[in-house]
Amino acid sequence: MSRRIILIVNAGSSSLKFSVFRLGDTDILQLAVRGQIDGIGTRPHLCVKDVTSAVVAERDFAIIEISNVQQAIWFAGDWLNEYFQDAQLLAVGHRVVHGGTDYSHPVLVDEAVFAALEQLIPLAPLHQPHNLAAIRVVREVQPQVPQIACFDTAFHRTHPQIADLYALPWKYYASGVRRYGFHGLSYEYIAATLPKVSPALAGGRVIAAHLGSGASLCAMQAGKSLDSTMGFSPLDGVPMGTRPGALDPGVLLYLINECGLSGADLEKLLYRESGLLGLSGISNDMRVLMESREPRAQLAIEYFLHYVIKQIGALAAVLGGIDGLVFTAGIGEHSPVIRARILQGCAWLGISVDAEANVRGGPRISMEDSPVAVWVIPTDEEWMIPRHTLALVFKKEKGYVN
Ligand code: AMP
Repeated sequence: MSRRIILIVNAGSSSLKFSVFRLGDTDILQLAVRGQIDGIGTRPHLCVKDVTSAVVAERDFAIIEISNVQQAIWFAGDWLNEYFQDAQLLAVGHRVVHGGTDYSHPVLVDEAVFAALEQLIPLAPLHQPHNLAAIRVVREVQPQVPQIACFDTAFHRTHPQIADLYALPWKYYASGVRRYGFHGLSYEYIAATLPKVSPALAGGRVIAAHLGSGASLCAMQAGKSLDSTMGFSPLDGVPMGTRPGALDPGVLLYLINECGLSGADLEKLLYRESGLLGLSGISNDMRVLMESREPRAQLAIEYFLHYVIKQIGALAAVLGGIDGLVFTAGIGEHSPVIRARILQGCAWLGISVDAEANVRGGPRISMEDSPVAVWVIPTDEEWMIPRHTLALVFKKEKGYVN
């Protein structure tokens, strides 16, 4: 069995996800284990599964044992050292939410890059500090191991400037108030998968709809992002589990000036209390809402559908018409009912739905002769990270990067 391994880390505020890939003799990556410590600071729980989905470790912790992401990564590191005793850790790849304007590709993290990524914390205060905390811990423990940052914003750096701007005075653009776009690793995966499932579509105009707890849509042309519904932050665009999606900025002024909400109050409202949860008053989980008979649960679903359909129209206009539509993420992959309702609302685009294929989950859910092909493609946001990591390690070995 190969001794060379790559560790992939996705560190959030309340959970740490990690996976380990072995590098075979022919440099093929093989998943070895996938694990997660969730409930950090509340009910820490570790679960690690091997490639057959058999549980290889499971444990609850006291809150003080794992009260923050640093402790989680320390613990995961110890566990991995023991489990992969004789292994050689080649590199660690991290999911990092924000790469700002500079990083349109994954990057090897050195002191200067780390400092630049720290500067971006104010742009993604809920995610970036945890992503960087994981890098810092690994650097302390294994300073010689290369670490690679893969960004959620990078895929959208192909936006034309018009899709990168807000109509504000230029000084704000210069200080970083731009439409960065998010879910980039998911869209990159879709763009990388399309040539295999539908070569004809891969070169065309496609809207990818990432509909999960977080939701956004991306307009792609020949696999490159031209526009997306998320902008400066992951709050914009369509409604999500607990985020409102697009909001008249006047609402924020009113909430601050007339209702006395502070910045912290607004952050909580916009990231944790709005969206499907806020509207329904019941849940942020689409499945729960679909099973509920409460009128507000149904209203929340209608609101979600209305805005997804509206944004598909807007992005179709940006692309000058579309050749394909791709559904992905939790709701997009698993709910034929929601897909059918969205497609009904997009009938004007000329989509002809294959209802049976939709119920089966696709992968193609439009009729053969539909002018717009519709696909369900399960996303794998963490598929790209080990590949990027390996590619940069090889470039480093060959001296192409420092
Ligand atoms: P994600 O963030 O991609 O894991 O997606 C989570 C969202 O997908 C939650 O709102 C779930 O309720 C939703 N979801 C998962 N399975 C289904 C399903 N079968 N029908 C409707 N929504 C689903």
